Amino acid sequence: MAVLPVYNVIALPDSKLFFRTDQYQRMTGRAPAEGEKITVIHAKRELPRTEIDGDSFYPIGVSGSISEVNAQGYLVIRLTHRVDLDEVYVYPDKTIELTVSRRPDLLDLDPAEAGRRVTAVKDALLGYARDQPWAPVFRQFVAAWSTLGDVGAGLSPWMTADSESRYALLAEDSQKRRFDLLEDMIYENLELLKVKDIAQSSQEEAHQKTYREAALRKQIDILQKELDALHPEDMTDLQKLEQKLQEAGMNETAEKEAKRLLNRLKNEGQNGAESAMLTDYLEFLSSLPWQKEPSKEIRLDQAREVLDQDHFGLEKVKKRILEQLAVMRLKGMQSGSILLFVGAPGTGKTSIGQSIAKALGREYVRVSLGGVRDEADIRGHRRTYIGAMPGRILDGIQKAGVSNPVMVLDEVDKLSASYNGDPASALLEVLDPEQNANFTDHYLNVPFDLSDVLFICTANSMDTIPEPLLNRMEVIQFQSYTPIEKLQIAKRHLLPKAMESTGLPAGALEIPEETLRHIIGEYTRESGVRGLKKRIDTVCRSAAVKLVQGAETPIAVSPESLRDYLDMSPIRQKTVRDSAEPGVVTGLAWTQVGGDVLYIETKEMKGSGKLTITGQLGDVMKESAQIAVSLVKSMFPDQAERLAAEDIHIHVPDGATPKDGPSAGITLTTALASLVSGVPVSPTVAMTGEVSLQGSINPIGGLPEKLMAAQRSGVKQVFIPQDNLEDLKDVASEVRDQLTIIPVQTVREVLDQLSLTGRA
Ligand code: ADP
Repeated sequence: MAVLPVYNVIALPDSKLFFRTDQYQRMTGRAPAEGEKITVIHAKRELPRTEIDGDSFYPIGVSGSISEVNAQGYLVIRLTHRVDLDEVYVYPDKTIELTVSRRPDLLDLDPAEAGRRVTAVKDALLGYARDQPWAPVFRQFVAAWSTLGDVGAGLSPWMTADSESRYALLAEDSQKRRFDLLEDMIYENLELLKVKDIAQSSQEEAHQKTYREAALRKQIDILQKELDALHPEDMTDLQKLEQKLQEAGMNETAEKEAKRLLNRLKNEGQNGAESAMLTDYLEFLSSLPWQKEPSKEIRLDQAREVLDQDHFGLEKVKKRILEQLAVMRLKGMQSGSILLFVGAPGTGKTSIGQSIAKALGREYVRVSLGGVRDEADIRGHRRTYIGAMPGRILDGIQKAGVSNPVMVLDEVDKLSASYNGDPASALLEVLDPEQNANFTDHYLNVPFDLSDVLFICTANSMDTIPEPLLNRMEVIQFQSYTPIEKLQIAKRHLLPKAMESTGLPAGALEIPEETLRHIIGEYTRESGVRGLKKRIDTVCRSAAVKLVQGAETPIAVSPESLRDYLDMSPIRQKTVRDSAEPGVVTGLAWTQVGGDVLYIETKEMKGSGKLTITGQLGDVMKESAQIAVSLVKSMFPDQAERLAAEDIHIHVPDGATPKDGPSAGITLTTALASLVSGVPVSPTVAMTGEVSLQGSINPIGGLPEKLMAAQRSGVKQVFIPQDNLEDLKDVASEVRDQLTIIPVQTVREVLDQLSLTGRA
C-alpha cells in the first residue's frame, strides 16, 4: 500500500484527488500504478521530505486507490474511507509504512439533500465564474465534480483556509457536520473571491460589505418568504411591512432607501430608540402611490356635462377649463398648465376643482396652504427631527392614493415667508413641470414623481402671490355672483343638496323663490354663496326637526317665518347715506371678499396748511391723498391763499379693508374739490379711478365687484375710468342696467359734471 503525505490539502472520503505524477513519485518514492491501494496522510506542518518522522502527521488519514494514471502526467486517486493511523513508521530513506484501522463515519447525511446542495454550490461557482476569462476551463472542472468532497479537493489550492481547518473536516465523524463545514468554507471563499474582485476593480470598501450583506440578506429573504407562505397568519408586523414595501412598486432609489432602513429596523429591533421613527417612515413610504396610473381618455362633452351638472353659470370659467382639458387631451398628458382660480370666498373655486376631478374620472384631494409659513410645511421635515412629518403635498398624494390626482392647493395667496425658509419657492418646485418629476420631500428623502398631478390653485387675491409663482400659473377669475345668479344656485344646487343631506324627502319642504330672495337680500352679505348655503342648511335642519315632531308636509317657509327658522336678525345692508354735505364722497373699493362702498370724508379747519390723514390706510393710499391735495390746490388757484391758512383732515373709514390701492384717487380728489368749492356731491354718485399728478384718470381692477356693490347699496351713478370700458362686458346686465355708468378720462370731466367749480 502506497502512503501519500500531503500538506494543506482537502482530502476527504468519497472524493477524487487529482495529483501530478512526478509529484506523486517524489512524495511516495514509487511510480503510480492503477488499482494500487493508497492512504493519504496529513502533515501537521510543511516540512521537507528529509525532515519528516512518525510525529509529523495528524492521527487520521483517508484511504482509497489509484483509479487512473493518464498520459498527460496526472493521476486520479479515488478516496473512499477514513482510517486511524495506529502506527506510523518512517524509514531512514523516508519511505513511510502504516498500520491503520478503519474509522467509520457517522452516517447522518441524507444523500438526496446532499446532492441538491452540491448542485447549488456548483451553480454558485459557475455563476461567479461566468464573467471570468478562465470560465471555459473551469466549467470542465466543475462538470467532473460529483460530490462536495470533489469540489473541496478541486478548489483546495485556491481556498483560504489553514491546514488545521482542512484537517478538521476529515477529523469530523458526522458526515452531516463535515458537509456543513465544507459547504460553509466554499461559500465563504466564494464571497471572498467576489469581494477581492470588487476591490480590484477599485470599488470602495463600504460596497464590499453591502454586497456581501445583500447576498446574505437575499438568502434570508427567500427562506423567510417560504416560511411566511407556510403560515401567513403568523406574519409579524415587520414582515407585513416588508411585504407592503415590496409590493409598493417603488422606484430604484426609494427601494434602496427602504431596504437600508428596513435592515436598520431589523438590526435595531422593535424596542430600539429609532424603531418608531423607522416604522413610521417605512409605513409612509409603502403607502405612497408609486405606480403610475394609466391615463384615461378625456371626453370633452362628458366633462362639460359634469361641470354643468355641479355648477350653475360660471360660463367663462367652464370654457377656460375645457380649453385646458382639450390641450391635455391633444398632448396626451395627465397634467397641463397650472390653473389659478382667483375670486371671493364661496364663488365655487374649490368645488369646481372637485368637479374637474369628477369630469376626468380622477381622484380629488384638497391641500390647504392658508397660514403656511415654513418651507417644511410644503416639503416636509428632515427625518432627523423628532416628530418629523412629510410636507402637505406628499401628504395629499398619500391621501389621494393615486399618482395622478387633481390636487387643489387652496389659498396660495395666504402663504407667508418666515425665518424657516420660503414656502413659496418650495411650491415653485412642486409646480414646475421641469422639476416636479423628481420632487424630493425632506422627510421622504427620495424623489417622487409629481408630474401626473393636475394642480389647481385658488386664491382670493393675486396681490400677495409672489411674482415667480404667479408667472407659472394661468389665472382664471371667478366673479361675484349677482342676486339673480345666487337665486338660481340656491334653487338648483344648494337647496336640493341641503335637503338630501338632512334627510328631508322630496316635497317635504317648500322654500318659495320669494323666500330664497329674502335670504339672499336680508340674511347674507357676500360675494359668494357660502353664507347662503349655511342659511339654507339651517332652514333644512329646522324643518327636519319640525317633520320629526309630526308637522304636516309640505312645510312651507315664508319670508316672514325666516327669522324663526334662522334664529337671527336680518343683516343690516349698507345703503348710501341720505344727506349730502360738502367734502364727503362715495367711493368704491375692491376687497378680497368682493366689492364695497366707502365714504371719503374731508374737513378743513383753521391752521397752517397741514394735512392729516386718518383711517387704516396703506402707503399707496396716503400717496393718493397727497396727489389729491396737490391737484386740488392747482385746480383751484383762487383758493390757494385761503387753503394756506387751513388744515385739511382726510378720513377713510373702516369697512373695506384692505384699502391699500390707488383706485380711491378720484374719490379723494373729488371729496377735496367738494370741500374746497363748498358744493356737496350726492351720496348716490360713486366713483373709482387712479389719478395722476397731471389729473388724468387711470384704469383700476375689480370693476365688476365694485359696480355690484354700488348697485346693491343704492348708488345710481358711477364714474369709471375710460380705459376700463372693456371690463363692462364682465358685469352682469342686471347690475349694469340699474346704474348710469359714466366713463371719464380726466379729473376735470368729473368735477365739471358734478359742477364743482370754485366757490361762489
Ligand atoms: P371657494 O372655494 O371659492 O371659497 P367653494 O367652492 O367652497 O368656494 O363653494 C362654496 C359652496 O358653494 C360649495 O358648496 C359650492 O358647491 C357652492 N357653489 C359655489 N358656486 C356654485 C355654483 N356656481 N353652482 C353651484 N354651487 C356653487
